[in-house]
Amino acid sequence: MQYSNITPADIFNCQKCGDCCRGYGGTFVTKEDIKNIARYIHADLQSFVTEYCQMSGSRPVLAQGQNGYCVFWDGVCTIHPVKPRMCSCWPFIDSVLVDVENWHIMAASCPGIRTDIPADIIKACVQEELDNMHPKS
Ligand code: SF4
Ligand code: SF4
Repeated sequence: MQYSNITPADIFNCQKCGDCCRGYGGTFVTKEDIKNIARYIHADLQSFVTEYCQMSGSRPVLAQGQNGYCVFWDGVCTIHPVKPRMCSCWPFIDSVLVDVENWHIMAASCPGIRTDIPADIIKACVQEELDNMHPKS
């Protein structure tokens, strides 16, 4: 296989299984995320954090519903236009650049992630996606 032609779309293809929206503590929300989501659902900041978040140490994460899924999961993400940075970037996140093993750890719970790709190609794809999402001015 020609690895030099591999693009981010070749190493990740979401299967829409929803597994990444299930389980406690996975989705950290930044201050920006909190502002955007609260505005989107017409909640004030404090009630958004109280009603829709749980604390993981000192950091808020999105809460789970009774079914074990994120409170904003209902077959699809109901806050898609303002979903947290972490959800928008997935699985092209900074921690893969720090240690490519994180890609393989995520792949264990995400059937859309390919693992049969050399580490340097995975990192290059992650960097490319991050650059596209957050272009340097
Ligand atoms: S776990 Fe992976 S394949 Fe499934 S919905 Fe989430 S990103 Fe897509
Ligand atoms: S915000 Fe949306 S994409 Fe992110 S975990 Fe919740 S339901 Fe899934």
